[in-house]
Amino acid sequence: MTFAHDTEVALSSAAALVNTDPAGGSGEDSLRSRSDLVRFLDEMGWSGARAGDDVELDDVRALRPRLRELWHLEEAPLVRTLNEILADAGALPQLVDHDDLGWHIHAVPQEAPLATRMAVEAAMAFIDVVRSGELDRLKTCAADDCEDVVVDLSRNRSRRFCESGCGNRENVRAYRDRRRS
Ligand SMILES: [Zn+2]
Ligand SMILES: [Zn+2]
Repeated sequence: MTFAHDTEVALSSAAALVNTDPAGGSGEDSLRSRSDLVRFLDEMGWSGARAGDDVELDDVRALRPRLRELWHLEEAPLVRTLNEILADAGALPQLVDHDDLGWHIHAVPQEAPLATRMAVEAAMAFIDVVRSGELDRLKTCAADDCEDVVVDLSRNRSRRFCESGCGNRENVRAYRDRRRS
């Protein structure tokens, strides 16, 4: 395991959220309605309060480009941004256990607005990445036509493609190129 379990879950969850909003028009926005959001939250196992209204949807949608930025910032500005996210949310780290998850950290209460909790959870996870000197694990998909963000949790840091099938597509393309030549 590269990071603590809750950190890895939070990083994957943040990447999944960012990737619902494909940058550069490379795909469909898959977080357009309140029911899209419910599906996403259930898939990702998000606990805590949900308003279920359009304000919440808009706030979560607006969070996506801000989280995407975390993948691209250099270390110093990244650190500033992470500290800002925590300060803005009035974060207070607490060890909690719920739903048999084992001890993990919540830095804002479960009643805090969803977008705030998502931002803080991502920030706390990124802090682990910075502290461990593992920023090179935060990547962008290596496929030419895909800007999805990638969290490389592999032992040998070999992951290059996002989870939406780019790796397979590249393999097929490479295979065809070989056959053609
Ligand atoms: Zn929790
Ligand atoms: Zn991709």
